[in-house]
Amino acid sequence: MVFQNAFKRKTGSGMTSLIFVTGGVVSSLGKGLSAASLAAILETRGLKVTLAKLDPYINVDPGTMSPFQHGEVYVTEDGAETDLDLGHYERFIGTRMSQVNNFTTGRIYNNVIARERRGDYLGGTVQVIPHITDEIKRNIVKAAEGYDVALIEIGGTVGDIESLPFLEAIRQMGVEYGKQAMFMHLTLVPYLKAAKEIKTKPTQHSVKELRSIGIAADVILARCERDISEDERAKIALFTNVPKEAVITALDARESIYEIPILLHEQGLDDIVIKRLGLEAGEADLSRWEEVVDRLSNTRHEVTVALVGKYVEHSDAYKSLTEAITHGGLRQRIAVNILRVESEQIEQEGIGSLDGVDAILVPGGFGERGFEGKVAAIRYARENNVPYLGICFGMQAAVVEFARNVCGLEDANSTEINPDTSAPVIGLITEWLDASGNVETRSEDSDLGGTMRLGGQRCRLRPGSLAGNLYGKDIITERHRHRYEFNNHYRDTLQRNGMLLSGHSMDETLVEIVEIPAHPWFLGCQFHPEFTSTPRDGHPLFSGFIEAALKSKQGELPAEVASL
Ligand code: GLN
Repeated sequence: MVFQNAFKRKTGSGMTSLIFVTGGVVSSLGKGLSAASLAAILETRGLKVTLAKLDPYINVDPGTMSPFQHGEVYVTEDGAETDLDLGHYERFIGTRMSQVNNFTTGRIYNNVIARERRGDYLGGTVQVIPHITDEIKRNIVKAAEGYDVALIEIGGTVGDIESLPFLEAIRQMGVEYGKQAMFMHLTLVPYLKAAKEIKTKPTQHSVKELRSIGIAADVILARCERDISEDERAKIALFTNVPKEAVITALDARESIYEIPILLHEQGLDDIVIKRLGLEAGEADLSRWEEVVDRLSNTRHEVTVALVGKYVEHSDAYKSLTEAITHGGLRQRIAVNILRVESEQIEQEGIGSLDGVDAILVPGGFGERGFEGKVAAIRYARENNVPYLGICFGMQAAVVEFARNVCGLEDANSTEINPDTSAPVIGLITEWLDASGNVETRSEDSDLGGTMRLGGQRCRLRPGSLAGNLYGKDIITERHRHRYEFNNHYRDTLQRNGMLLSGHSMDETLVEIVEIPAHPWFLGCQFHPEFTSTPRDGHPLFSGFIEAALKSKQGELPAEVASL
């Protein structure tokens, strides 16, 4: 076959090793977290590691998928809208993810069909094997290129019709890469309360299913709520053809997901992988992870932050955000309880549910449902000196609230909510562009009009502002995902009334951060700081916000609202 080895050679010196991660029995076993955790250990052993997620659905990317169904859309530095597992990857390893690290069946077909339309197949019949599988392999190579180890996670569960082309592609790569490829299979080992025993049968079946498509697992990660005895591990090993030590128990993490690298290392998973792939590596050093876990489990304070949004019931919808909030407490060992408040509930029942919370956060969002509830929550925070952090939509809502209730522009709104508002303080750039066309409103690297502004963009901070002090630098890069912007025609009115515009795009044309200096801690940012927060380094805005929540709880913030 023509493609054999051509793929292998492309990975630099041919030295990239591939670890394919599949899942069996049920979904949601934590494949992404397990892969990221193994990657984290390998990184501490001095290897250059990357990860990629292959999603079997037909959407070309997750950008259009509802957070209710699929959880958060994670945005990379280069502006790709990706699966939330990439967020885990960036929180666990130092390698930055980009658009090559996540692709879907839809993207693969899109590429192949585009090529077919161009006539690239010279009249040949275009088929799943080899054309689709070749395209999958090409994309895997692209993601893996230049690294010592690439962990390739296949979404879905073995046995799904959708994932078959992916599994066929990685089977072929297993043959082509030989000793430089291995397969790690994550399965469920349920504990049956009535029988008081764990059951290995689903694992046996799932490994058998994998074998029937030509893939032999090298490592079994058995997800179980209790420890798996030596006997049970021996049984799984026997039935699945892997050595007993390669049956690893993936226990539910006791304290936090950041414990998983430690738990996997204790069972020698990294050694097994390094030996199997014949890699040279140093000793593992998990001290930074131990430090994170220690800070999370031995806390000295506790605060409650209200998260006022639309998708609060879906735990994955704000994944990066809830992680970043937790990271925000690490520096001062603050345990953060997140009170999820549905903004529509505020509209119906008033702001009673916010009574006694130490801080309020309104996250990113789209559409009018629940918007007024968010505005009401922000008003409550502003008028009662409760620390407030508004992210993207949460910043836009804060601008609307301020315009209405402080500047007296009663009808103020975002044109996303009310296109006919007489005071469009937030709108599409094309809507508020100066009619004369003379005003230069185009930002360095943003799109005009209906296109999303996506990915990392630079922002200049105002020295001495809350943001300037927290970041401790003049220029930052943060990630965006939105269409609407602060309307420059209202800059003067808002500033005159006490709002500080403390962050701007590099050419000064777009407002990126707003603050209320008369309030002890009130900040809204047009970007998403949660995407760049990591457990090791935290993020200045989240640390500042959670520490302000603690001060608020301890009564250290002024109770009197300063007049604006
Ligand atoms: N809906 C708003 C916009 O498109 C905010 C988007 C967001 O919060 N990510 O501008």
